[in-house]
Amino acid sequence: MRELLDDLKNIRLAIFDLDGVVYRGNTIIPNADKVINELKDLSIKVVYNSNNSTATRKTYVERLENLNIQSEVTDFYTSASITSTEITKIKEKANIYVIGEIGLRQELKSLGHNIETNPTDYKNIDFVIVGLDRDFKYDKLAIAQRCILEGNAQFYATNTDSTLPVARGFKPGAGVMVNALITCTGRVPIRIFGKPEPFGIELILNDANIPPEQVCIFGDRLNTDILAGNRAGIISVAVLTGVTTRDMIANIKEKVIKSKDFDNNLIPDLVIEKLADIFKN
Ligand SMILES: [Mg+2]
Repeated sequence: MRELLDDLKNIRLAIFDLDGVVYRGNTIIPNADKVINELKDLSIKVVYNSNNSTATRKTYVERLENLNIQSEVTDFYTSASITSTEITKIKEKANIYVIGEIGLRQELKSLGHNIETNPTDYKNIDFVIVGLDRDFKYDKLAIAQRCILEGNAQFYATNTDSTLPVARGFKPGAGVMVNALITCTGRVPIRIFGKPEPFGIELILNDANIPPEQVCIFGDRLNTDILAGNRAGIISVAVLTGVTTRDMIANIKEKVIKSKDFDNNLIPDLVIEKLADIFKN
């Protein structure tokens, strides 16, 4: 069994971002499966925290299974599942208009909420919830706008990622849809539930009942994964297999030093080229 780097030797829980860390598009990042299995062999609990709200957690289990990684539905904390958990704390069995995909709709339905696809009475809608929607249309935006401006619907968002990493390059992220609704309503989301907001990591720490200093997050994005991890007081590890490069980290460090406005929580505790680098040899 290989030994972990000293910085990580006390961890009991590892949180993995998915896109850019475990896979990119449908392709596994080399050795991600091996590293995850080795961590489990060391009795380290592994969970997954993704800002992608498009798929259900069951779909993620199947997706990882195809990549030779065994997991359970409860191992996943997606911005859709986190949003559903948190929205239910605000109101049970709400009427919701969703700009988003099946992942978000299913997670909300599974907690007893009613998803209105074509509301006739805008005043009847409690929440408009926006996530990544690859079938985003003008009509959907117009309905969401009316629910908020003509009704009393409260505006929430799963996440505001600007881009979505795909097999080759990037596509537009959920932030595009969120900003469209901000533009036509003059309102901003009351809460955004995905990273870098604290909701997901708080749920994970609570469910696992492990103190933050024994937890790490592996992420490829500084303004979501690393920021969320540092704010939660867990060990933040940037993996350079996704959106972030060593130059980008050097740039951020320089800006933090030069300007007080820059958040030093954007700087990872540890930077590794690839997941396999968490081992000493
Ligand atoms: Mg990522």
